[in-house]
Amino acid sequence: MQEIQKLNERFAAAEAEDILGWMVRALPYQTAMTSSFQASGVVLIHMLRKIVFDFPIYFIDTGYHFPETLEFKARLTREWKLNVHTIVPEMSKVEQLSLHGPRLFERDPDLCCRLNKVDPLRGLQQELGLKAWVSALRRDQAETRRNLRPVMIDESGGLRIHPLLAWNRERVWAYIEKHRLPTNPLYEQGYASIGCFPPCCTSKSEPGSDERSGRWAGKGKLECGLHSHLKSEK
Ligand code: SF4
Repeated sequence: MQEIQKLNERFAAAEAEDILGWMVRALPYQTAMTSSFQASGVVLIHMLRKIVFDFPIYFIDTGYHFPETLEFKARLTREWKLNVHTIVPEMSKVEQLSLHGPRLFERDPDLCCRLNKVDPLRGLQQELGLKAWVSALRRDQAETRRNLRPVMIDESGGLRIHPLLAWNRERVWAYIEKHRLPTNPLYEQGYASIGCFPPCCTSKSEPGSDERSGRWAGKGKLECGLHSHLKSEK
């Protein structure tokens, strides 16, 4: 924990590229990224591929992604020659249906997220045994992310690294504009955060509200569980 504390002090005001540079030097071939190819993720991928051209990126295909998201992921993978791996839930939708009934995402979104997002990533983490995972989480996205730190420890004891934690939405879109990066076309339709297609999981946000306010709106749920249980020195 002392080491983590030192890293967080060092990275408190560090540039994202510096955190990424440290990560690939300190943990060579022992890190990977998770991404759902949202705007912040595209920024992080753009930075990473300048450092390591074939950095491994894992995409969790819940089976409920918007077609636009799948098409955008395929397009970026092809055009940027990315090293993307798609992982799918171990339990098929037919098994989920027979065990838990229809429209689980409406009736029990926590269980649906666990089966389709959290468990597949946990299984992958155990299988690969990597030392660290990097993602594009930002503090300004939601109340649940305000206390995250640049480097944290997950429940398996691995590191979670958040180089864009201090960025805000404006900075992400300014970077995208400056570098003319492509983005998921759903942003143009008014979505601020893009997850699974059921309207109870992803809806358009009110202007001025938190970026993730359209996720599970009215359900009292703010996170899928992928980033829960993270610990820092605090
Ligand atoms: S976001 Fe919705 S559909 Fe996707 S895994 Fe979670 S509950 Fe299921």
